[in-house]
Amino acid sequence: MRRPVVMGNWKLNGSKNMVTELISGLSRELQGVEGVDVAIAPPTLYLDLAERMLGESSSNIILGAQNTDLNNSGAFTGDTSPEMLKDFGASHIIIGHSERREYHNESDQFVANKFNFLKQNGLTPVFCIGESEAQNAAGETETVCARQINAVIDSFGVEAFENAIIAYEPIWAIGTGKAATAEDAQRIHASIRALIAEQSQSIAEQVIIQYGGSVKPENAQAYFSQPDIDGALVGGASLDAKSFAEIAKAAAKAKAL
Ligand code: PEP
Repeated sequence: MRRPVVMGNWKLNGSKNMVTELISGLSRELQGVEGVDVAIAPPTLYLDLAERMLGESSSNIILGAQNTDLNNSGAFTGDTSPEMLKDFGASHIIIGHSERREYHNESDQFVANKFNFLKQNGLTPVFCIGESEAQNAAGETETVCARQINAVIDSFGVEAFENAIIAYEPIWAIGTGKAATAEDAQRIHASIRALIAEQSQSIAEQVIIQYGGSVKPENAQAYFSQPDIDGALVGGASLDAKSFAEIAKAAAKAKAL
């Protein structure tokens, strides 16, 4: 049985005040909630504050981050290393988000290298994959996802996926309110798991595959009722403590059945 993971991707949103209020609210809303791992990925600049807030509230919320560099130190202006992320208590690191692939030209191989570097540093990659609207319309979803996953497998072996998280995020569903149907998402999640199972059944069975793309309290239950959807990567709705906690609670409830 896979324990669901619900993660909030705050993207480029935050202020000291917002981080303080959101973490306080979330800690309150999630008190006593069991059966789900809840993680947040604030902007890097606020990791220090977030770590202190989580410590003060004795919360079980896992701290994450939104990106990593491929080096631990050196002449890499503007970057943040896995060692630094660890230093601030961040363990779950989002990589390969479509916004970074698009706006920063991150290739499949570059993202795969980040995946491997996080693993080498004892961190958990939250590896985003997914197709564009045009690729979806052309029936290329499985091919695109397989290409992105195979970039990791071909360079680092299927073992790289041990204790890693995959987030299937159709790009057309991110921030648009146009979520994939739970049935379509389940079909893609099953194909992702089958692709990994071709190399290792046991790794396929344990790997967490989150759905991401306009997940809200209203549609969360439908996703989590699907056998291969093990949680969610949540953007917009993770900025509201009540909404995000409701999504986490829906995961705990659906997977406890
Ligand atoms: C995301 O950016 O990872 C995401 C899924 O965003 P949203 O939930 O807002 O669609």
